[in-house]
Amino acid sequence: MAQYRSSLLLPEDRLLKIRDDFIKEAQAGLRGENSSCLMMASMMDVLPNGEETGDFFAVDIGGTNFRVILVSLSESRGEVARFEMEDFAIPEEYFSCHADRLFDLLADSLVSFAKRHGFSGKKTAPVGFCFSFPVNQTAVDAGTMIKLTKKFDNEGFVGCDPVQMLQQAIQRFKAPFKVVALLNDSVGTLAGACYEDPNAKVGVILGTGTNACYVEQVAKIGTLAKGATSRPRMVVNTEWGNFTAASLPITQADREMDETTPNAGEYHFEKMVSGMYMGEVARRIILQLAEDAQLFGPSVPDELRVPWALSTPALSKIAEDDSWVLSGTAQILADDLHLPASRCTYSACSTVKEVCLMVSRRSAALVAACLAGLLRHIGRDGSHGGMQATTVAVDGGLFEHFDAYRGFLRDYLDLLLTPEVSAMVQLKRIRDASSMGSAYLAAAVTASP
Ligand code: ADP
Repeated sequence: MAQYRSSLLLPEDRLLKIRDDFIKEAQAGLRGENSSCLMMASMMDVLPNGEETGDFFAVDIGGTNFRVILVSLSESRGEVARFEMEDFAIPEEYFSCHADRLFDLLADSLVSFAKRHGFSGKKTAPVGFCFSFPVNQTAVDAGTMIKLTKKFDNEGFVGCDPVQMLQQAIQRFKAPFKVVALLNDSVGTLAGACYEDPNAKVGVILGTGTNACYVEQVAKIGTLAKGATSRPRMVVNTEWGNFTAASLPITQADREMDETTPNAGEYHFEKMVSGMYMGEVARRIILQLAEDAQLFGPSVPDELRVPWALSTPALSKIAEDDSWVLSGTAQILADDLHLPASRCTYSACSTVKEVCLMVSRRSAALVAACLAGLLRHIGRDGSHGGMQATTVAVDGGLFEHFDAYRGFLRDYLDLLLTPEVSAMVQLKRIRDASSMGSAYLAAAVTASP
């Protein structure tokens, strides 16, 4: 166990090294040099400021569901007069059908949603399209899809422009919508916060995966073609999930899990941090302890060997278990890992809880280190003198549902920033941020000259 404590609980100097390595990678990526962080220009050179008015729609896809929303923005600054939202499950066959059919499904759902909510359709309505896949963005409303991720395996996707595809599908329904903005969930999260908070400068996703974006000076984005924008600032999508550096504390359990993933050798940071992987990393460490230290008795329960058997929501319940003699942990081990009750002694449960806590703390520590790096890079960590209030908008199931995790993240930020700076940095949980932000961005793009 001591070996896991020393590899998972990261001391301050190690976190500062990770922070500095992240800054180096981010700055190399910005200059267009070889880097694990792509630092992609999002082409979003306007952000909502609460002064937008009118009716705007958003279509948001990226996981197992997609969502359509309508917002009516009133004349009173930052006030949403009307908000309608519907979630749609993606039927199984749509994960492998031709991309045209999937876009038809999105367009059909948008049109029927608008009808259901009494949208008259007399005027063409702007739509923000939140499309959370890797896209090489060429304009606010154009881009080329680089690769499919998650469960999607559709022909006709890679190389397509998602905006054109959705617009063509809308035209097949002869519906009065114009897709005016293309973005991913981290940009949507930042935009969602900007609408009501002018201090919002960074957007972070902590869900199945992780990513961050921030407001950058155009002059610093080396990869941006000259004349791409006449505005001074643009949102940069870090793709920090792929961040890697020698200072990252990659353990044997991380390496072994990585080998079983479709993108082995990539996205090391995401695999140490995000909801898709934390449970599996913990399971592998628990298995190792069962083998080396007889955690569950002389033999290793076969059930512990089942890959992905411990989900991150289960890990979070164990990490937060304050039940008498850890009966909650024993129950999860019985329910999720099918371990016999006789094997789940108090001592075993207590070790399992410690592993879950350490994996959770490591994730929060790594996110805090990179966040501190991003804040330093944009001059918001007090190191360049002068302190400004800064809001970091966060969305995603890991941050939203795992209460203790939010506390860990705050603690590590407090450790890495001075108390004066930390007090100026707010981590703001933004619910439904990517969808709301997409509609607000559609509004901001429409309002901008
Ligand atoms: P996505 O990132 O796929 O768009 P979400 O933002 O809802 O979707 O995040 C889902 C992820 O959040 C899941 O993969 C899961 O790991 C994580 N998650 C959900 N509930 C919890 C929880 N109670 N504790 C920890 N993680 C959770």
